[in-house]
Amino acid sequence: MFKKVLIANRGEIALRVHRACRELGIATVAVHSTADSKAMHVRMADESVCIGPPQAKDSYLNIAAILSAAEITGADAIHPGYGFLSENARFAEIVKAHNITFIGPSSDHIKTMGDKIAAKKAVGDLGIPLVPGSDGALSNIDEARAAAKEIGYPALIKAASGGGGRGMKLVEHEGELEQQLHAASSEAEAAFGDGSVYIERYLKKPRHIEIQIAADSHGNVVHLGERDCSLQRRNQKVLEEAPSPVLTPEQRAQIGETTRKAIEGLGYLGVGTVEYLYENGEFFFIEMNTRLQVEHPVTEHVTGIDLVREQISIAAGNPLSFKQEDVKIQGHAIECRINAEDPMTFVPSPGRINEFHAPGGLGIRFDSAVYDGYDIPPFYDSMIGKLIVFGDNRDLVLNRLKRALEETVLAGIKTTVPLFEKLLDEPEFQKGDYHIHWLGEWLAGQE
Ligand code: ADP
Repeated sequence: MFKKVLIANRGEIALRVHRACRELGIATVAVHSTADSKAMHVRMADESVCIGPPQAKDSYLNIAAILSAAEITGADAIHPGYGFLSENARFAEIVKAHNITFIGPSSDHIKTMGDKIAAKKAVGDLGIPLVPGSDGALSNIDEARAAAKEIGYPALIKAASGGGGRGMKLVEHEGELEQQLHAASSEAEAAFGDGSVYIERYLKKPRHIEIQIAADSHGNVVHLGERDCSLQRRNQKVLEEAPSPVLTPEQRAQIGETTRKAIEGLGYLGVGTVEYLYENGEFFFIEMNTRLQVEHPVTEHVTGIDLVREQISIAAGNPLSFKQEDVKIQGHAIECRINAEDPMTFVPSPGRINEFHAPGGLGIRFDSAVYDGYDIPPFYDSMIGKLIVFGDNRDLVLNRLKRALEETVLAGIKTTVPLFEKLLDEPEFQKGDYHIHWLGEWLAGQE
């Protein structure tokens, strides 16, 4: 096992990784920007190193500074968390070149999955069902026209290097194609430095269902069931649950096994998530994430498996501590992403939390790095905590979630807590009867 892990992240995920390390007897090194010198992950870690000014590009994305911190402190592994450098193939490669273990997959797998066109080809060849679309990148309008004709309208133009829902443009009919093609490509070029785009069928009312995978270096690959992340705003997840309210155990076993086999075929190492859209009983691959995901806790509560512990352990060369037949999906779990934002307009609301009380009691987990008097800096993602609620069944979890939200005190800033309270009163949400566009439509109706 590792002796010392450097955590190249901040916020709740830095704390989550620290906790797993602690329980494994591993010392931790926190890195932080000047804006985060009082952050909880810095306070908790055994050692901390300031890696630069507030802007992420100068600190949490500063590869040279992070590597120096690892060398100075003698860390033998780096955990990238999610976001920042977690899916940066070059970072993974440089870490390895310094004889430090990158807690994640190989840089080749990160690279392939980071290019959605290459990813579709790689997993499609291994038997995973894809969203119908263009074979590769579109090089001109004629190619786009031909591809769109074949898949039909509405269609969606997507960026090969896309992430966070950016670089995606809906095309309702052929008249809009050229303009949207240019718009998607320039947005992608500006955001990712790569303007390549492709086109896909636009699914009208799908659910977003993803399969969690874990693979060790001894050839064991296991799937841990699904998470339903259909509650989204602007293609960004807002609430996640496991199991999905609409999948049968047979469907779970089937898509789980298809995914597991493909990941085995890839020779993948580490934890990862294969994301699908699910409509009319069919699954369509959209992308693979080669990192730990924000919503991993819901899987932890329905399987009883500590995914971060497992992730660290397999990076150290140990076999997975469980086999496929040990994975049993039990009970239900829901995660709400609590953002420092106005609950209706979603305008960020950084600033001081002048009163804080975390919800508690049976079946409640609050993963957050905030504390009483904490100043939320304006430089980073607005997610300040994750409320995870679990119990024997979905109805119980909904009631438990309601009371946990009532208990939560985050005064001084605006948060998305009231949004979840309102959602819980919605009969369609209560029944689990929603798709990826449902929340956007519901929000539009609230105005
Ligand atoms: P990103 O990497 O930017 O998050 P994804 O490919 O994972 O992009 O897609 C994000 C979300 O966008 C999906 O969860 C879904 O809501 C929507 N989306 C993506 N592809 C399609 C599609 N073909 N049809 C309808 N919605 C889609």
